[in-house]
Amino acid sequence: MGICDGCHAGCCRTFAVPVTGADIIRIRRATGLSFWDFVCRWADSDHQIAKDVVPHFHFPDQPAMPFVIALAHAASPIFPGTTKCRFLLEGLPDTAHPLGQGRCCIYLHRPMACRAFPAKLNETGELAELQSVPGHARDEAVAVYQLCPRPWEPEDLDPVETPQTLAVIRYEMAFFHNVARLWNRQPQPWTAFPDFLDYVYSRRILPVSADEAPDTEPVIASLPLVQPRTTFRAKAA
Ligand code: SF4
Ligand code: SF4
Repeated sequence: MGICDGCHAGCCRTFAVPVTGADIIRIRRATGLSFWDFVCRWADSDHQIAKDVVPHFHFPDQPAMPFVIALAHAASPIFPGTTKCRFLLEGLPDTAHPLGQGRCCIYLHRPMACRAFPAKLNETGELAELQSVPGHARDEAVAVYQLCPRPWEPEDLDPVETPQTLAVIRYEMAFFHNVARLWNRQPQPWTAFPDFLDYVYSRRILPVSADEAPDTEPVIASLPLVQPRTTFRAKAA
C-alpha cells in the first residue's frame, strides 16, 4: 500500500500548486474545463511560492506585485473554514480515517508538480532525491492541514517515472520562464492571459525548415533557455 493511499491529502489542502502553460493546456483538454474554472494568479510578494523556481508574472492592475500561476483553491464542504485544491474530492471521515480520504479527480492529468512531490533532481540532474516533508506547513491548529503520516522512503517513488517526471518539469519550467519573460515585456490584463498562452504554445512546433516557411515566427524558440531548480510547491496563503 502506498504512503498516499487512504490519506486525507493534507498536501492538496496546504500548498499552492504552481502550474505551467503545458499543465494548463493538458488539464483543459482532458476535463473540458475553461482556464477560468481552475487557474488563478497567486500573489507572491515574499517569494514564498516561487522560491526562484517558478516564474513570476506581472499585471497592469498591480504592477509591483509578482504573481505565480497556480491551481485555484476552493472551500472545503466537509471541513468548514478550510480550503483545498479545487480538484480534491473529499471522503467523509470514518473510524479508520478520522480526517476522511482525499482523491484527486484529475489524477491522470494532474500537474507535474503533484506528480513529482516530494522529490527533486539532485545537483547533477541525473538522480531524484527526496525532500523531507514537515508535519505541517499551514495553520498547525487545523488537523486537516497535517501532511504525510510518516517520512517518505525511496521505495515510495517509482525509480523510472520519478526521474523522468523531474526531467520534464525542468524542461517545461525552463520554457515557462521564457513565457514569463515574453509576457513581462509588455504585461496585459489578467483577462488576456489565456489567449496569450494559447498563442505562445501553438507556436511551439517549428516547421521542417525556416526556409520553407519564412513567415512563421518562432516566438519563444529564439529566447535562451534557463535552468531553474526543480521543486516548486509552497504553502497556500
Ligand atoms: S491536482 Fe490533484 S494531486 Fe494536485 S493538488 Fe489538486 S487534488 Fe492534489
Ligand atoms: S499528505 Fe503526504 S501522504 Fe498524504 S496524500 Fe499528500 S503526499 Fe501523500
